[in-house]
Amino acid sequence: MQKIRIGIAGYGNLGKSAELGIRQNEDMELVGIFTRRNPSSIKVATQGVKAYPIDEAKNMTDKIDVMILCGGSMSDLPKQGPEFANCFNTVDGFDTHAKIPEYYSEVDKAAKAGKHVSVISSGWDPGMFSMNRLMANVILPEGNDYTFWGKGVSQGHSDAIRRIEGVKNAKQYTVPIEDAIEKVRKGENPILTAREKHLRECYVVAEEGADKAKIEETIKNMPNYFAEYNTIVHFISEEELAKNHSGIPHGGFVIRSGKTGMNKEHSHLIEYSLKLDSNPDFTANVLLAYGRAAYRLNREGVSGAKTVFDIAPAYLSIKSAEELRKTLL
Ligand code: NAP
Repeated sequence: MQKIRIGIAGYGNLGKSAELGIRQNEDMELVGIFTRRNPSSIKVATQGVKAYPIDEAKNMTDKIDVMILCGGSMSDLPKQGPEFANCFNTVDGFDTHAKIPEYYSEVDKAAKAGKHVSVISSGWDPGMFSMNRLMANVILPEGNDYTFWGKGVSQGHSDAIRRIEGVKNAKQYTVPIEDAIEKVRKGENPILTAREKHLRECYVVAEEGADKAKIEETIKNMPNYFAEYNTIVHFISEEELAKNHSGIPHGGFVIRSGKTGMNKEHSHLIEYSLKLDSNPDFTANVLLAYGRAAYRLNREGVSGAKTVFDIAPAYLSIKSAEELRKTLL
């Protein structure tokens, strides 16, 4: 089998998970890791694979079929996405929802100029959740959509707490409110505020002698992050944080409840749920499947930016169309 030759750009949580994910896909092989840091400071887990300075990637276009872009959405991908799309087929997990149209247009221009396929905003949200929202909407045109996240770690909210004076370290969990989920599952179609859907639970390690009451008040009143939610703050030791809160779990629910029938007498509920022990492992595996699709589409002569909405599911699978019809249809 001719393997799909993969490069990984950015070696943080997602990059490391992508490296492990490749091992579970026998039609893929890892060619190299590309980083902005000094490559000699990077310990690559796969034997025989090297880390390269990121600028060297453009000299390896004949050695790599798909570049998995694992940089951060805030400031890395807006620059790296279009740059790499010009030289490689790419896939990324760009998750700044409000900026997706703008990002799509930049990557599309670059991918078309370079005659490559770039799948943007795959992963789970955006990604698998988006697919499920779309499917549920076309099946139940009359209904309501609900997305609940968690219980899981929000990196952005954890970072926001760490920036408060007197805070040494912190982890923030987004927790969906069970009562709200139950109302939705019962088909009550409730109108829910942010506060009614999620609560925020924070585990904070304070500096010695820090004013804990002031830290708690600053967290709870932080606009855009916590002020719109009920927030619980626990102060714990550094050891406890390392022991009980070092993982990166996440997940959530996408639910659509709708009605059909002459008098809307039939109720339907579609629910997709994820419980992820490791957010980056799961996200990376989605990116790899869409990387396979990017490679195949490009071999068919397609170019430009694509999202999960544009790609037929058979392109994602290692199995042939015939095998898929036989085993999964
Ligand atoms: P991360 O660990 O912060 O890594 C981001 C980048 O930081 C890395 O690519 C790495 O690039 C750089 N970096 C600098 N110093 C580092 C150090 N000491 N250790 C590790 N990395 C360092 O972020 P992540 O958790 O991998 O997530 C990447 C992005 O994926 C997020 O911004 C998020 O938007 C997206 N995401 C999307 C979904 C989805 O469902 N769509 C889900 C999860 C995450 P260099 O190697 O070049 O330095």
